[in-house]
Amino acid sequence: MNTQQPSDAAAHPDAAAQLHHRLGALDPDNYTAEKCAHYADQIAEIRELKRERRAVVLAHNYQRPEIFEVADFIGDSFELARNSREVRDAEVIVFCGVHFMAETAKVFNPERKVLLPDMRAGCSLAESVTAEALADRRDELLPLYPDLKIVSYVNCTADVKALSDACCTSANAARVVNAIDSDHILFVPDQNLANYVQTQTAKQIISWDGNCYVHHQITPEEVLKVKAGMPGVIVIAHPECRKDVLAIADEVLSTSAMMRYAKESPADKFLIVTECGLSDRLLLEVPNKHFYKACKLCRYMKMITLEGTLDSLRHLRYAIELPDDVRAGAKRALERMLELGA
Ligand code: SF4
Repeated sequence: MNTQQPSDAAAHPDAAAQLHHRLGALDPDNYTAEKCAHYADQIAEIRELKRERRAVVLAHNYQRPEIFEVADFIGDSFELARNSREVRDAEVIVFCGVHFMAETAKVFNPERKVLLPDMRAGCSLAESVTAEALADRRDELLPLYPDLKIVSYVNCTADVKALSDACCTSANAARVVNAIDSDHILFVPDQNLANYVQTQTAKQIISWDGNCYVHHQITPEEVLKVKAGMPGVIVIAHPECRKDVLAIADEVLSTSAMMRYAKESPADKFLIVTECGLSDRLLLEVPNKHFYKACKLCRYMKMITLEGTLDSLRHLRYAIELPDDVRAGAKRALERMLELGA
């Protein structure tokens, strides 16, 4: 629910009109002229504070469209991890995404202030595995598979990353698994992604019982129902979806690969099966093609608002902190991903 109150008069009328033109095309009922005027004022203030604070804003693809307006970089987990490692000339990183992603930015930027505008922005997937449970499972499996290695999807906490031999994202999971020197991989925490990776490797994948509640609730029936009225539409699904959804997709792609595919493909009609924010980004950036949604909203991603981002910059809150040993362990696993999965 959006609790922001529109201001009486826009201080930036031209910017407000342009914003209304862009965002109103996505959802005219939500992005009214009045609300866009309020957003335009907040956007101007955020840009000013970014200059004053020497701050950059990194935003995940699943963020609200108005957040994209203040982002210095928009991407998926892999791109954001790589980008946060390469941040130069900034003292503050405001992370518009969820907690584990902000932790990753902190891992690569211990000397910078890394802020998450809302500490409630967690993740069902990250919460499905703790470092203690993972250590127990590893100790149980090692006598059976002495060469066992742990690969963790980046959607997990920093202390789980610290226990892993390498991290991966949905974009490079198969590459990382195939490159690591073991035939037995304990893959955490996403069971659906583990199943998908198993189709791309001869190695034995031992999966964890976790899932992203957003992707896991999408059913093949829903996708087929939307698809039925659209002859020739290309169905693109995220590998966090269930196996039976992936089975009816034309392409299984990470969000960054979806962006590239939609831009480069000669086709002009796509059914996007992932979190809805990606469809909004596609509609904004590829206006000459048609994108239909068989998507769900992530309540955690949507906890980040423009107002929260503004407050984060005003009050320099909420800072991410990590113990040194966890940071060093997570960094090693993330660096390994960047080396194996690039
Ligand atoms: S979309 Fe799923 S994996 Fe991504 S933050 Fe939300 S719950 Fe976590």
